[in-house]
Amino acid sequence: MGLSTFIGGVHPYEGKELSADKPIQVIQPKGELVYPLSQHIGAPAKPLVAKGDKVLVGQKIAEAGGFISANVICSVSGTVKGIEPRLVANGAIVQSIIVENDNEYTAIEGFGEKRDYTKLSKEEIRNIVKEAGIVGLGGAGFPTNVKLAPKDDNAIDHIIVNAAECEPYLTSDYRLMMEQPERLIGGIKVMLSMFPNAKGVIGIEENKPEAIKLLEGLVKDEPKISVCPLKTKYPQGGERFLIYAVTGGREISSAMLPADAGCIVDNVDTVISIYNAVCESTPLIRKIITVTGDAVKNPQNFQVPLGMCYREILEAAGGFKEEPEKMISGGPMMGQALFSLDIPVMKNSSALTCFTKDQVAANPESPCIRCGRCIDVCPEHIVPQIMMGAAERNDLALFEKLNGMECCECGSCTFICPAHRPLTQAFKEMRKAVMAARRKKA
Ligand code: SF4
Ligand code: SF4
Repeated sequence: MGLSTFIGGVHPYEGKELSADKPIQVIQPKGELVYPLSQHIGAPAKPLVAKGDKVLVGQKIAEAGGFISANVICSVSGTVKGIEPRLVANGAIVQSIIVENDNEYTAIEGFGEKRDYTKLSKEEIRNIVKEAGIVGLGGAGFPTNVKLAPKDDNAIDHIIVNAAECEPYLTSDYRLMMEQPERLIGGIKVMLSMFPNAKGVIGIEENKPEAIKLLEGLVKDEPKISVCPLKTKYPQGGERFLIYAVTGGREISSAMLPADAGCIVDNVDTVISIYNAVCESTPLIRKIITVTGDAVKNPQNFQVPLGMCYREILEAAGGFKEEPEKMISGGPMMGQALFSLDIPVMKNSSALTCFTKDQVAANPESPCIRCGRCIDVCPEHIVPQIMMGAAERNDLALFEKLNGMECCECGSCTFICPAHRPLTQAFKEMRKAVMAARRKKA
């Protein structure tokens, strides 16, 4: 039988060899820490501190500003310098708490204490996850405690760990699987304790054979946990494609939640963060960041406190060996182009990828030749070529009629297009415009 996968997708150059074998190095910041109040889907968090306040590692410095929102936890000890607007990776200016690090890393009482999850109720686990500020760390930033509270716990039959890491160049999840597999399995067990009818499945691309072997060995005596090797194909890690592959064909639309298909999907670091919070009283205060690309002197993986400046992380990787034409927060398919490195690591940060050549600038756009390749690769089975026509005319109604809102912005169509049409970019703008129009109407 062939490996599980989905229909469509592309095979970009993986680029993972630059950093895949580099163990995670823990680094600490020299400069100030910046904690944006919006680093998740939903309402911004509300500050609980003011200028001049002393803060500790693990202290809640901003609380969720609504049901869909998340707490922000301090990753260092020090003094609040102020609350002010700061630039973040997506180019937005976001109100942020600025903390001067005292370099002592004094933590709140009880930080790091061991806890037995089997003695906790579901509600207690959800509350710990909420208090810990955990959101989907694969990029989506959806509050995890909300995801862990579906309408019917009994209807959940799959806890799926998104271990595909299909985005080229990124190796942070791979390193976590190689270095902290017990925490990953511990996190799955915590989640399984909340859903009596569920089994845990780790969905992982076949291009990570060592991680597959390691995890298979560790779960061989766990009847409710298994490893599901997946075909290596981008965007295998997209939530809908992972559900499709792991469950043997369940489909969800953009209007549905994974729970509607009996699934809860979380990426590797999110599951480990659940373990850290529930079993070791450690809230979400750090991220694993891959610093990579041909412009970087020593590509590698770092564990950094949330709020640390990208520029400092690049310095820890030896800086640039050649001035980059392109810098990206994340990977080349779905990442955000950067024009400054003076931005903080946020909960949804995964990588700093820097290239000596800007492939987009090097390949100017030309007219569509109607080759249909974008349609063939689209994992959502929509029609990028025709949607682009709607986008060019700013025809929101037609874009919606063509199911443009189902676009997951994966970038596969742009990648394959021989005419170098900026398809995904146009669809992103159209999706934003449709959502703004819907909000206005409501
Ligand atoms: S891949 Fe590009 S050139 Fe081919 S049909 Fe799609 S938009 Fe046109
Ligand atoms: S139309 Fe959207 S979902 Fe389809 S390939 Fe392009 S970016 Fe991906």
